[in-house]
Parts: sequence; structure tokens; C-alpha cells
Amino acid sequence: MGRIVYVNNEYIPENEARISIFDRGFLFADAVYEVTAVLGGKLVDFSGHMRRLHRSLQELSMEIFLNEEELLAIHRELIKKNDLYDGAIYIQVSRGSADRDFLFPTEHPLRQTCILFTQKKDLRSVKPGISIISEPDIRWGRRDIKTVQLLASSLAKVKAKQAGKGDAWLVAENGQVTEGTSSNAYMVTQDDSIVTRNLSNSILAGITRDSVLRLAAENNLKIEERPFTIAEAQQAKEAFSTSATTFVQPVIAIDGVQIGNGKPGPLTRRLTEIYFEESERTAL
Ligand code: PLP
Repeated sequence: MGRIVYVNNEYIPENEARISIFDRGFLFADAVYEVTAVLGGKLVDFSGHMRRLHRSLQELSMEIFLNEEELLAIHRELIKKNDLYDGAIYIQVSRGSADRDFLFPTEHPLRQTCILFTQKKDLRSVKPGISIISEPDIRWGRRDIKTVQLLASSLAKVKAKQAGKGDAWLVAENGQVTEGTSSNAYMVTQDDSIVTRNLSNSILAGITRDSVLRLAAENNLKIEERPFTIAEAQQAKEAFSTSATTFVQPVIAIDGVQIGNGKPGPLTRRLTEIYFEESERTAL
């Protein structure tokens, strides 16, 4: 049996779900999304994801007709209906459907399209670390908005896969790493400082990033929020990335250059444990 998904107020079997061909999410990538991890049937960092969803919508002059309590109820209902233990829930909100026009439709209220579905994922296996490649960052300039405009990231990820690697880190024209294709990027300096790019329009403000940096600070670890280059990361003691569905992911080689001893470093492993424990403790 397929999944039960949510489409505009209805819980239906996935093969019965229908969206208009005129949906602006489909025609213009005029839609935003969130992915929240589900650990042991509970939602990780849920409030953070919903806060960012609201911000993304606001930045595109959209509003959502559901409040956080209602969104939580829908997420929980989907977990229940799909008997989801470990995995993720995807939510997408588009401006809705109207005849194709670059201008936003003026008819009010345009009915937004809101869909949610679950995905089963293994979130518990010990991560041996991934090798990554670097790729030019060819995405648009508002990467702080979590839109469904993901083709550039998808192409970079495919290139990494074709090279037999786990992911790509994206590099701006000035040579500085922005982030991973669907993760934030970090290196650990020789004097044990955790370095990750500062927040701006150039990167997505990762919810996992936020939690990991908070936990690192609480554990008296040194943090530097600043850009860094691939060359710097290749000389680093450790490297890793974070995202809602990979948590803390060790990076053990970049463009063929081994990081440290080529194994997940101690600080990365410590952050992996701290974040996992905190997620299990605070999941809703
Ligand atoms: N950066 C990009 C481009 C992403 O797509 C993602 C997640 O999908 C992240 C960073 C990590 O964000 P989060 O920790 O909220 O999953």
C-alpha cells in the first residue's frame, strides 16, 4: 500500500493526489518547502522549521492559512497514518494555480497549494563519512529563501554521484564555499575552531546549523562564522556538513584530498552524538 499524503485539507492515498498543471509551484518554482526529520515517531526541530517556512513565505509575499499548531497536528497525523518511525516529512506551499502569467495573480484569495508527504529514512546508522567534490555555485541570489528552485543543486549532486562521491560543496565566484547542495558546510581548524559561513542571502540558514552551533557553544567549543575556501578546508583537521535528514555528516575528502586521517574526526563525532541526543530528547 502506498503512503497517505496531505493535499489541501485532505488525507488521501498518494496515487490519488492531484495538483493542477497551472500550479505556480510547477510553472515558476513559486513555492517554498521544509523538511523536518522524524525520529522515533517525533519531529526534530519542528518550531525552527515552521519559523523558517513562515519567513520564506513572507519574503515572497505569501501567507500560510495554517498556524503552527495546525501544522503540527497535520505533521503528527501523517506520522500516525503512515506509521512512520524514522524518516522525514516534506511540506510544500505554493502560491496556488492561475493562468500562466509572470505577474502574481490578482484574484483574491488565491487558494494556495499545500502538500505534505512522509519519507522513511535510516537516521541512526553510524556515518563512515563522505567524500565530496566542489562545484561552482550557479544558484540565484536569494538562497536564504527555501524555494523549490533546486535544479542547480540537483545538477551538482548528480555530478558528485557520477564522480563516485557523496555530495558537492558549492563555491562562489570569489572562491569561498557557500554551502553543500542540501546542507551547510563546516571545517575544523588546527586549533579546534568550528568554522562555517556566516548567514546572509548567500546561504540557507539551516535549522540543524542553528541547533548544532547552539549546542557547540553550550559545550564551550570555539565557533567562527565566516567564509572559507576549499583550499582551507582541505588543510583542516576535520570537515562536516549538517542538514535535517543527515544531522552531522562527516566529510573525509574534498576534491580527492583527504581531510585529517581520512576518518570522521573526534569533534565531528562529538557533535554527532550531542545533536542526536538533543534531538531525541527534544523531539515533539
Ligand atoms: N543549505 C541548503 C541549500 C539546503 O537545501 C539545506 C537543507 O535542505 C540546508 C542548507 C540545511 O538546512 P536544514 O538544517 O534546515 O535542513
